[in-house]
Amino acid sequence: MQDIIQLLPDTIANQIAAGEVIQRPASVVKELLENSIDAKAEKIVLKIKEAGRQLIMVTDNGTGMSETDARMSFERHATSKLKSSDDLFNIKTKGFRGEALASIAAVSQVEMKTKRNFDVIGTKIEIAGGKVLEQEPSAMEQGTTISVKNLFYNIPARRNFLKSNQVETSHITDEFYRVALAHPDITFHYINNDAEFLRLEKGNLKQRIVALFGNTYNEKLIPLSEETTIATVSGFIVKPDACKKTRGEQYFFVNNRFIRSTYLHHAVQSGYESLIPKEQHAGYFIFINIDPAHIDINIHPTKTEIKFFDEKSLYSILRSSVKRSLGIYNITPSINFDLEQHIEIPLPDKNTVPSPPTLRLNNPHFNPFTTKDSERNSVVQKSMLDLRQFNNKAYWEVIYEQDSDNEKSELTSPEKKYFQFLQQYLITKTKKNLILIDQQLAHEKVLYEKFILQLKTNRGISQKLMFPVNVELPFKLSEKLKEILDAIKFLGFDIEFFGNNSWVVSGIPPNMKESSINPVIEKLLADFIDSLQLPELETNHVLALSMARNLGLKNGKLLTEDEINQLINELFACENPQYSANGNPIFITLASADLEKLFKK
Ligand code: ADP
Ligand code: MG
Repeated sequence: MQDIIQLLPDTIANQIAAGEVIQRPASVVKELLENSIDAKAEKIVLKIKEAGRQLIMVTDNGTGMSETDARMSFERHATSKLKSSDDLFNIKTKGFRGEALASIAAVSQVEMKTKRNFDVIGTKIEIAGGKVLEQEPSAMEQGTTISVKNLFYNIPARRNFLKSNQVETSHITDEFYRVALAHPDITFHYINNDAEFLRLEKGNLKQRIVALFGNTYNEKLIPLSEETTIATVSGFIVKPDACKKTRGEQYFFVNNRFIRSTYLHHAVQSGYESLIPKEQHAGYFIFINIDPAHIDINIHPTKTEIKFFDEKSLYSILRSSVKRSLGIYNITPSINFDLEQHIEIPLPDKNTVPSPPTLRLNNPHFNPFTTKDSERNSVVQKSMLDLRQFNNKAYWEVIYEQDSDNEKSELTSPEKKYFQFLQQYLITKTKKNLILIDQQLAHEKVLYEKFILQLKTNRGISQKLMFPVNVELPFKLSEKLKEILDAIKFLGFDIEFFGNNSWVVSGIPPNMKESSINPVIEKLLADFIDSLQLPELETNHVLALSMARNLGLKNGKLLTEDEINQLINELFACENPQYSANGNPIFITLASADLEKLFKK
């Protein structure tokens, strides 16, 4: 019988292999960025067009290649990174299989330009569908530029399989983030459709995290550091009070390579123990350095999974280092009041009718508009008037029925009736009750209802800035801002897109500090993005709450008598003054019977 087995031609073999390594534009981006890093580049530029369908171009200032190596690099199993099988157990580079360039060239049109620093002239190679079309000398600086055009042009099935530009771009961005995080000492530029998306200057890890995820991360991170004979652990974890119900940022890097590991995730999560509720997720940027002989990175073609030979020890190392860092943080809480835990106020008994504080309804001294800025006055007055529409008449009636016998004397009495305690609670009394108000929750509630009203009525109240402020946002946030621009305007921001990731702000909500524009907008967008994971949350609620928390006064602030008066009046003008937007009590009342229980006679 005739023999029928044939060796596949290289081009077909490479196309098949490409199916494993190159699944989508993001895989090309990952391979090219990693090659540049292996080539010791200090500066890398990533350019994409049409989500990488049309063009993926990576330029680096790394070692470059000789003319022969440039040609060789596209051969299958061509690598400069493995010399013998022993090296497989000591891998210090990102690549080692020598498959990426061959695979990419098999399914696209590639142009490579490369030059080593000591060569007089560089090399340019054009290759398409795995076939070299042209090779010629090329004048250029040291480094390598690889342009990948029309990915999957020769495999229509693959090309059709790609998702929308938005989805593919976000895969690319994810890869970019992972590489950029692992290498804060490298300068990166990311250009999408000719617009600069991200420019990351070289710096330390914290600076890189902040550049990628926003300024709010400046206050969210706790350093992690542990050295053992098995592995070194470093990086940052997210403070417990900044952990979310939605999965935030969770990054493991092993020898600077991004990996996924549910096992190690569990180790970190368990390190937080009771500090975060079960349904909340730890956030982290953790770098594990381990002897390459103790891991096997070869088990997954795209290398995001890894096998540790001593998994259990690593688990305990990770868990205890998380615990230790959290412990240190807990002993020395930040002086930033934002980070202080909210004090839990016990709910009043279900059956007691709440008795709010006395209110000087006709107090001639009460003026909620005590600020000097006349422009702001008009704005604030408008917002106060809006608030009054929310006013709950029934609530007032309850107050007066309860305390009708002392109403007269208290309302007209000039004596001081509110006390601030621990710069945190406002204390007042009616004839029958002692009332404790949490000042932070009270102010948040006032602002929350104000913002909800603005969002519901599509009417933003804005204070014009003398000079417009330019705000640069991380690209993910900038994109989200475009989606909810109207809502952001109704919150009181007069804001316009300025190209790239830049925005110009010419008006801000009244009472907001100019210096906090950037962090407040970033926090707002971050909260919105997080809320998308929980579809039951209403966008208006999420945005109003975020603003209220950002702009609200904090516990720990000394208030003047006027400020206390104003706050209490505003609180009781709210639709539902007793409970916060999340349903927690804002004040508690203690009747004489409650007090009697506290004392034994
Ligand atoms: P691997 O990275 O696994 O070795 P690749 O196919 O990605 O395989 O690359 C093949 C070879 O081409 C590399 O080993 C390296 O020698 C060379 N190379 C690829 N990209 C670059 C670059 N940007 N700068 C210098 N050399 C490169
Ligand atoms: Mg490679």
